[in-house]
This record gives sequence, structure tokens and C-alpha cells, in this order.
Amino acid sequence: MVARIPFPEWDSLEVIARLADERRSYRDFYDRIKPDWLRTSAAYIASGGCPLTIIPLNLRDYTASTEEAEARKESLLNLYAPKETQFHYVLLASLRRDHGLIFCPCCGAHSVPGTLDHYLPKTSFPEFAVLLANLTPMCNACQEDKGANYLSEEGNRKFIHSYFDDINFNLYRIKFQGELGTPEFIFEFEEGIPAHLEILVKDHVGGVNIKKRFISYCGVKYTHLLKTANKLRRGGQENQLALVLESFLALAEENSVNCWEAVFYRSVLGAEELLNYLQNGELPENL
Ligand SMILES: [Zn+2]
Repeated sequence: MVARIPFPEWDSLEVIARLADERRSYRDFYDRIKPDWLRTSAAYIASGGCPLTIIPLNLRDYTASTEEAEARKESLLNLYAPKETQFHYVLLASLRRDHGLIFCPCCGAHSVPGTLDHYLPKTSFPEFAVLLANLTPMCNACQEDKGANYLSEEGNRKFIHSYFDDINFNLYRIKFQGELGTPEFIFEFEEGIPAHLEILVKDHVGGVNIKKRFISYCGVKYTHLLKTANKLRRGGQENQLALVLESFLALAEENSVNCWEAVFYRSVLGAEELLNYLQNGELPENL
């Protein structure tokens, strides 16, 4: 959510067409569903995966009984767990591992995303189980917190889509409150979030539990900050602090303006009292 990432390099619709054509089991079912499968996949891409405009396919329309529809749903879901010999095995593995990301585009945590998330859950939308545009890299913590809900309590789209939503502006910051040796970290949304995205951003941040996880990260990062300030002061270079932090921020923003490291250093650089403390105040012992 916190960053828009490049679209998969393979054509999502070509993959669906090839999957439909190559099925040997349930040949009749795949012949019947293929046109609507391609149509709804194209609608997904055109709408950016918006669940408010996409109606899930009713598999009963392509089968002779409820039992058969349930069984064919399993067949669609199984496409997401291909054998190594199937052509899309390599595509899924590459999408999972070769993204080159060192942060999670969903939450901004500093980690290499190791899983793929179904933006629209495959249990509700089995026809999108293997639609590449519906599969976004994500960290394990996000996947555990996201769950199967894709609509908010108000019936709105709940999550930002990292292939479609342009979220490359500052979303939130931290305020440092209380004793600056061991401050409390206060999470705040930025004021400049465009009105049409504000509810979505807040639902997303709550939906994958970013606030709690980011505050925990700030605790660790703050110790690093104190150590950096201490080291500069020992070398008589405390007046270089802002310059050092600005270089940390610039490097972090190369990943995303909303990766946690960038949010942390931007928040520090925006806190004049804290900068003054780091240069001249009494730092904790044992750094
Ligand atoms: Zn994440």
C-alpha cells in the first residue's frame, strides 16, 4: 500500500488464456468459463481490482450441479499451487522472489517480501487465484493481519493495491513525546492525503496493523539514532548530525517515501527540539 510497484512483466490475460487452453481435466468446464474468465480478468485490470465493480463469477453457471461447481472451484484454486512442470510455476516463483524489493510495499517494513498476497481473496474470487495482477508481494506480518475481508465495515474498498494505487506521497509521521532519552512515539497521519484516498489509507493502515508494528520499529530505530548522535559527539562532529540523517533519509526514500526508515528519519528531521537534544542534551548512558 505504501508504495506503488511495477506491474508483473507477463501479460495477466495471456496467462489466463493459456491456462484455460491447457487444461486437460474438466475440458468442458474450462471451455465454458474461458470467455467470462478473460472478460472478468480484463475488468479487474481496468478497475484496478476494485471489488465494488467486480461481480464474482457464479461457477454454477458453468456446471451441471452445485457439487460440480464446488469441485471446479477447487480446480481453479489448485492453479495457484502448480507442479514444477507447469509453465506458470516459474512465473509465480519469480513474482514471489525476483521483485528486487527490500521493503514490504503493503506496510513499508524493512524486509524482503517472501509471499504473494491475493489482493481479492481467492476463496471469494477463485477466478483470480492465479491472475498475476491480483498477486502482490507482501511480508508475512501483513499477510497474517490482512485476513480475508476486502471491504471495510462501511462497504468501501479496504486495502490499497500496490500495482494500481498511486500512493507515492507521505502518509504518516511519528511525534516524539515526553522525556527525549526514552520518548513515547505518537503515530499521526499527514494532513496532505488527497480527500478521495483518505478513508482508504486509514482503513488500510488499520487493516494490516501498521501503527502498532511501526511504533515497535521506532523503538529499535531510536536506539540507533541515539548511538549515531553519541558517536558524532564523541568525534566532535555533532554539527554534522542533520547532514548524516538527511543522507539516511535520502537513501531510504529511494525505496519509498513511506518505507518505515524514511518515515522515521523524516520525522526526526522535522522535530527541532529532538535535533537540539541529540546535539546538546544529556544522552542516556550505556549507548
Ligand atoms: Zn508488510
